[in-house]
Amino acid sequence: MSDPKPTTNNSGIPVPSDSESLTSGVNGPVLLHDHYLVEKLAQFNRERVPERVVHAKGAGAFGTLEITEDISRYTKVAALQKGVTTEALARFSTVAGEQGSPDTWRDPRGFALKFYTSEGNWDLVGNNTPIFFIQDSIKFPDFIRSQKRLPQSGLRDHNMQWDFWTLSPESAHQVTWLMGDRGLPKTYRHMDGFGSHTYQFYRSDTDRCWVKFHFKTDQGIEFLTQDQADELAGSAPDVHRKDLFDAIERGDFPSWTLYVQIMPYEDALTYRFNPFDLTKVWSQKDYPLIKVGKLTLDRNPENFFAQIEQAAFEPSNLVPGIAASPDKMLLGRIFSYADAHRYRIGTNYAQLPVNTPKAPVNSYAKEGSMTYRYNPPNTPVYAPNSYGGPAADTARYGYDGSWGGFEPRFERAGVERHRDDGDFVQAGTLVRDVLDDAARERLANNIIGHVLDGVREPVLSRVFEYWHQVDPDLGKRVEEGVTAARD
Ligand code: NDP
Repeated sequence: MSDPKPTTNNSGIPVPSDSESLTSGVNGPVLLHDHYLVEKLAQFNRERVPERVVHAKGAGAFGTLEITEDISRYTKVAALQKGVTTEALARFSTVAGEQGSPDTWRDPRGFALKFYTSEGNWDLVGNNTPIFFIQDSIKFPDFIRSQKRLPQSGLRDHNMQWDFWTLSPESAHQVTWLMGDRGLPKTYRHMDGFGSHTYQFYRSDTDRCWVKFHFKTDQGIEFLTQDQADELAGSAPDVHRKDLFDAIERGDFPSWTLYVQIMPYEDALTYRFNPFDLTKVWSQKDYPLIKVGKLTLDRNPENFFAQIEQAAFEPSNLVPGIAASPDKMLLGRIFSYADAHRYRIGTNYAQLPVNTPKAPVNSYAKEGSMTYRYNPPNTPVYAPNSYGGPAADTARYGYDGSWGGFEPRFERAGVERHRDDGDFVQAGTLVRDVLDDAARERLANNIIGHVLDGVREPVLSRVFEYWHQVDPDLGKRVEEGVTAARD
């Protein structure tokens, strides 16, 4: 074996010792000018960045998105053209838990993707469910606080969760999903992923449609029962992180087949469900899945902190050919993700290798803490200029997510209801038409178990009413189950 390299400090200067600090005599005080000791302790104190306020606990890996089908009739996104392969990063996570939380708490799972496309980074920051608890991002901080911890005891509290859910009946569809089998995936590999929001595909200013993304697991859907999950939470709290890492290490690369649902632009005005409401899906009977390609994860990070903890996904990263929709949750997230990264990682988070696009960056952004990238010295620092600095492409006017026919009217209003919209409609469809008897039984038992853990009046009566509205039979079972257990 060759001699080890000499240890250096962070400035590359060889250091004399990693075990003895500099003191005034053998028993004397430690000297301040032992700058290597100071650097080592100070760096240690700063090893953590604040954890993500949501999706704190996660795991991730690199891979590729390969497009196998021709969808050029819907979009000009370069990375979505047949035959194109794009490097990708995926991060999966729980939502409400903290960094050290068990992977098997009942929770939606984050399904965040970054595609390093030839036109810049495209981030699709979704979940393992196609829907969400709320429709408007102004509710998001309240929602998350209700799922986290009580201010006095620092404990989680089911009563607080059900209080928020039952006072926000638009949550019914997502809560039904959460309490069912898919609220506890067996591993990150055995769950689907969804872009969740409606986005806009375009080829030109006048050639647009609406799109939803579905990543169907090629490993098959598998789930944990509540008992299995509870056991694993104690015995193997990192089970999902480990499963993903180990599978990739042994060459068992997980993959997902990418499908889209496409809605003609004008349909959105009259579709029976409001297609921009994040608590609703588009029925696949109305808008069937169209196959697009495959996402494969085949490379583990070399450094979890640098590449996964500091990975910055942002729904605002939309490349030419894809744009936002009037979904109020998406529009809020377009602000909040980049803002979270600036706070959590730092102003220049986009300059970290994991976040750096493969496409060239010709930005006028400059300076700020930890600046690493800078323009050639003769590049002007302002636009417009006469000295050859980058110029914005005015030919891109009109492709930046405006939506003719759906113009904002600047008012505060609930999400517009279309003909078949109702808070409980799709939740009821899921219970009655999609689940089988055994899955309905597990759903009822999961709800009963969750509610028995601390839910009190007046929230309890609202919980019964909530499930009666989702499905009368399910409501009856929940009420009878909880009442019998309490008697
Ligand atoms: P479809 O019968 O065409 O689709 C049913 C969908 O339900 C499939 O995507 C299926 O996914 C999924 N599913 C099956 N079992 C479960 C489960 N235990 N928990 C959650 N989802 C499950 O019906 P529609 O498209 O008309 O939708 C009917 C209901 O199905 C909706 O109200 C919604 O709750 C649910 N759903 C709809 C989706 C959509 O995008 N339209 C997506 C997922 C669920 P898989 O093929 O993986 O089994």
